[in-house]
Amino acid sequence: MYYPVNEMFQTIQGEGYYSGIPSIFIRLQGCPVHCKWCDTKHTWTCSDTNKISIEELIKKNISNKTWSYIDVKTIIFNIKKQKWKARHIVITGGEPCIYNLSFLTYGLEKNGFTCQIETSGTKLISCSFNTWVTVSPKKHKNTLYSSILRANEIKYPVLKKEDLSYLDAILSILKNRKNCHIFLQPISQNKESLKICIETCIIRNWRLSIQIHKYILIR
Ligand code: SF4
Repeated sequence: MYYPVNEMFQTIQGEGYYSGIPSIFIRLQGCPVHCKWCDTKHTWTCSDTNKISIEELIKKNISNKTWSYIDVKTIIFNIKKQKWKARHIVITGGEPCIYNLSFLTYGLEKNGFTCQIETSGTKLISCSFNTWVTVSPKKHKNTLYSSILRANEIKYPVLKKEDLSYLDAILSILKNRKNCHIFLQPISQNKESLKICIETCIIRNWRLSIQIHKYILIR
């Protein structure tokens, strides 16, 4: 199975449940969801004119539209070749769930890695049983019922107080499920949104996700 990979790099996970954990990010190219405030718009389309080799991809250290079509074996081979110490893999995008991620996640797990997927929840999720699924529902986009039920964590982006009503509708599906962690994340480090998130997290006993990589200026 081949995947269009936009970038692959080692860093610190800056969001949600695994914040602070050394991680290898595999960012897949392609997203049909098109959120207004998306900060990875360069991943939306897979144009052949932007194809690069795996060697160029590994060296890449800027965000742009280039991508490489790579099979699971080559992805794992190249991760091992870098001698990266992180053992946690974050598969993100784009919208990674437009692809069947079972091959990738089972392949990585067989090689000693743990996997996490970051998805909008608008596409069917296909991945290994043990993959940690982070669903980040987008207001006005259709979050699938099956995605909400599969989520290990819900990381909800907040701009205004009104945004919380969509989250409440989603949470009504989960009812009393206790093992799903709820995070609020202010959009684009907006100060007013941060204030809303802090106040709401305290009142509802939820957790705050502040995209620490943007504060400590890492990728
Ligand atoms: S789903 Fe994610 S990658 Fe796609 S447009 Fe929305 S924020 Fe951007």
